[in-house]
Amino acid sequence: MNRPLIGIECGTSALDSHAKISQDRLNRSYSRAVWEAGGVPVIVPCLEDSAAAEAIMSRLDGLLLSGGADVSPTLYGEDRLNDTVEVDEARDRAGQALIRAALRNGLPVFAICRGIQALNVAMGGTLYQDLPAQRPSEIRHRQTESRGAQTHSIEIDPESRLARIVGATRMEVNSFHHQAIKDVAEGLTVTARAPDGVVEAVEGLSGSFLLGVQFHPEELIDVCEGSRALFRALAHAAEGARVQTR
Ligand code: MN
Repeated sequence: MNRPLIGIECGTSALDSHAKISQDRLNRSYSRAVWEAGGVPVIVPCLEDSAAAEAIMSRLDGLLLSGGADVSPTLYGEDRLNDTVEVDEARDRAGQALIRAALRNGLPVFAICRGIQALNVAMGGTLYQDLPAQRPSEIRHRQTESRGAQTHSIEIDPESRLARIVGATRMEVNSFHHQAIKDVAEGLTVTARAPDGVVEAVEGLSGSFLLGVQFHPEELIDVCEGSRALFRALAHAAEGARVQTR
């Protein structure tokens, strides 16, 4: 079997006050989820060069955007709201270039947590910079439970690609986000919300595989068939992209 190559955008050590050198980092759960779904995970480094992004994405069959620090508000024309907003400008520049390159090449994109936010911003949308301050809620979107604990539900649009993939219109998810989508970009549509209305999933309107979730399915693959199905869908779409382009 010729598995598709799925690039995984990584995070950096920028927010780690103990880090003495710049490092690229990725939770291992992303690579494992891609591999077990039938893809070849390829960790994509943080390179602030749009030519690098183009060169990398021209060799890959799909892109997975991972979680991490807040997205810089300057990317959607706002000043930083308060000190809780912790950004990694280098990662933002590298990541935005990767997203643009993937979209230009028509590659499948699956965006997780920070990724759904970065995708929305790349396509012209905005974010709540500090969700607890700007949109107080009974739901704790930054859970203190373990990574694989499902602490809130989401309601999924039955007509969505997401519902077809996970085979359900309701799902129990984990939640580790400080920000969330405010204004949805043109070209994306909301396909799931938490009980408090916070956007938990979007997908592209163009028909290509463009999917974002605010939760962390890579941490749920051992307990949730729907989460496994999301990575299989990405691998399947990437396989289709590989066959088309090579
Ligand atoms: Mn949430």
